[in-house]
Amino acid sequence: MRRPLIAGNWKMNGSLALVERFAQAFTTAELPAEVDIAFMLPAPYLPAAQRSFAGLPVSLGAQTLHPEPKGAYTGEISGAMLKEFGVHYVLVGHSERRSLFHEDDTAVLARVRAALQAGLEPVLCLGETLEEREAGSTEAVVSKQLAAVFDGLDESERRRLTVAYEPVWAIGTGKTAAPDQAQEVHLALRQRLAQYDTTLGETARLLYGGSMNKDNAAALLAQPDIDGGLIGGASLQVGDFLAICQSAG
Ligand code: 13P
Repeated sequence: MRRPLIAGNWKMNGSLALVERFAQAFTTAELPAEVDIAFMLPAPYLPAAQRSFAGLPVSLGAQTLHPEPKGAYTGEISGAMLKEFGVHYVLVGHSERRSLFHEDDTAVLARVRAALQAGLEPVLCLGETLEEREAGSTEAVVSKQLAAVFDGLDESERRRLTVAYEPVWAIGTGKTAAPDQAQEVHLALRQRLAQYDTTLGETARLLYGGSMNKDNAAALLAQPDIDGGLIGGASLQVGDFLAICQSAG
């Protein structure tokens, strides 16, 4: 009932040549029909990706957006602008945005609202640091991050979000959460969502992110409450990303 989503977050990596390599490989590859696939690209590559991926069963995503629809915000990009390039998803609250660009829960909610307003599907990222995990506060931290956004939305808005659990200690470190460790947090998030609305608890798509690769993807994706993956490093390798997409099928 929940369609898996495998999303590659290129972060500030890649090139036009890499967009073309992916487009060529995905044109001939056998892609699992029951899996949604997305590329969260650096904004300058979106027009090329829109052209080169045309006709392929993949969606485009962006990595952030500004809360305002337009205005004097030098360097920023609005949801409406992303929409013009066929973007479907936008990451909000990625841990790198939270820590390096000082986006707090209020800023995250403002961006989720802007994404919804622009007709985009926000992928809300959240997760605990190593310190927080060691202090035993993982569930409290992720519940608070979840509530900071979901409390500010109405029922129909809540149903338009995807949530990505990305433990900060697993991002780019090669240390993946063990499948049962990730499942435990996903279940807690699902139960928290069900408190808003039982349908939401059943239908919300929850992704895992953090050093997911072609070797560990299948075990993570086999967990009952893990509905897909948000992949950083391994999404830059055509063969690896294809293998992860196939393991979700
Ligand atoms: P890695 O897969 O490189 O750990 O990155 C995960 C991530 O941050 C995806 O958004």
